[in-house]
Amino acid sequence: MIKKIALLGSTGSIGTQTLQVIKDNKNLYKVQSLVAFSNVKILQQQAKEFDADYFATITNNGIECLERAVDGADVVVVATRGMVALRAVLKAISQNKTVALANKETLVCGGEIVRQYLKKYGGKIYTVDREHSAIWQCLEGNKHNQIKRLVLTASGGAFRDFSYEQLKQAKAQDALKHPTWDMGSKITIDSATMMNKGLEVIEASYLFDIPQEQIDVVVHPQSIVHSMVEFVDGSILAQMSNPDMKLPIQYALSYPDRIKSSVSQLDLIGKKLEFYAVDENKFRCISLCRKAFSKGGLYPAVLNAANDVCVQEYLNGKIGFFDVADIVEKIVDNYLIEDELSVDGLFAVDKKVKEYTTKFIYGELNIV
Ligand code: MG
Repeated sequence: MIKKIALLGSTGSIGTQTLQVIKDNKNLYKVQSLVAFSNVKILQQQAKEFDADYFATITNNGIECLERAVDGADVVVVATRGMVALRAVLKAISQNKTVALANKETLVCGGEIVRQYLKKYGGKIYTVDREHSAIWQCLEGNKHNQIKRLVLTASGGAFRDFSYEQLKQAKAQDALKHPTWDMGSKITIDSATMMNKGLEVIEASYLFDIPQEQIDVVVHPQSIVHSMVEFVDGSILAQMSNPDMKLPIQYALSYPDRIKSSVSQLDLIGKKLEFYAVDENKFRCISLCRKAFSKGGLYPAVLNAANDVCVQEYLNGKIGFFDVADIVEKIVDNYLIEDELSVDGLFAVDKKVKEYTTKFIYGELNIV
């Protein structure tokens, strides 16, 4: 049976690669709907080429178009940024659909709410994050109570080999020349500060129902081992491939089957695979994520909102590399949540924390 796909965020990097996978497997998948943020021209080309039944941009049609796009689809691929698709994800779950999730914020910020929905309605979330896809693949056929720990690998980002002194001076522009992955500027900076990996710890905890204490991070510059799982007997399973996002995308679409792909064959001969511990003095963001996650409730959303603002101000040259972690920590420690744990509460907190963080950066707010 052909699976009908709703693709939210169709003109970005994951979106276009998803369409490539669909194009390569027309006997398996059909585009039902496409939503882009603002790129009408490319969206129209895509809609024509893939004969989509429905297409819309968020800037012209509002975020309701994301929920509308879910109708009639079997699988909803979420490749949008931020929390914009949260309501669409919840709608898909409540209709017992499969969500192929390439977006972190949905789980990092809305993880508790998503979990309640999954419990109540029984939809499924299949991850399209490469590390989490690796863990998912390693867990296949194994028992949950026999997992000892999950090991997320990190490329280490653009500043991996920088000294403390170099990091003090490091400009956002230097990070934008990222070694392995071509990504948007926000995620490239998150990768350089390793905030991305901290968010992935929270994401992994929700996806696999494993406490964060059992989730470790190692730096692996080659990005060939995408992540690992250690079991109680001491065995470690790893998933490897050449770095190519089409693989996690198509695994989420084809699961439980594996299908042929255009990903180039991995040749391990002569390759060196290295693993290092994270230098926590230089890269504090992972432990900040753990702290916010321990505080629970909407605190991961507070961290995420503060980080959004800090990354923007780092890109603007207003703050330095170490300020990102310092400011995010101050906000997580000091911001008092007044909103309830609900979808509306989550969006309210996001907005308020962004204002709070901006005021703090521009000296309009004193936090000791
Ligand atoms: Mg990732």
